[in-house]
Amino acid sequence: MGKLRSLTTTLRKHEPVQRRVVPSASDQRLAGRALQARRLKLWTANPYCRGCGQLTVYPHGFELDHIVRLDEGGADTEAAVQVLCVWFDELGQKHGCHAAKTAEEVREGARKSKYE
Ligand SMILES: [Zn+2]
Repeated sequence: MGKLRSLTTTLRKHEPVQRRVVPSASDQRLAGRALQARRLKLWTANPYCRGCGQLTVYPHGFELDHIVRLDEGGADTEAAVQVLCVWFDELGQKHGCHAAKTAEEVREGARKSKYE
């Protein structure tokens, strides 16, 4: 009996510690099917790029862009995202309005962290 008890105690020690995980803004993004459904819905409503106005191709010719970035307090709702064109060159590099906006935000972020 004493032996069993000590074994139970040992096992208990190895139970994983329950951590409270606070989801970050990026974890709260839609993923999987819900995201695909949103993409189709918004693209069907208006398939033109909000950046350059060109007609985008479903499903790989556009991405949903958060007008206000999630990490800057933007909401992850249909009203808060827009269709922006993307295309990939033969090297797999992303181009188009969404790639340009993301690059701009990265530069902006670098500038901010330098001067704030
Ligand atoms: Zn565009």
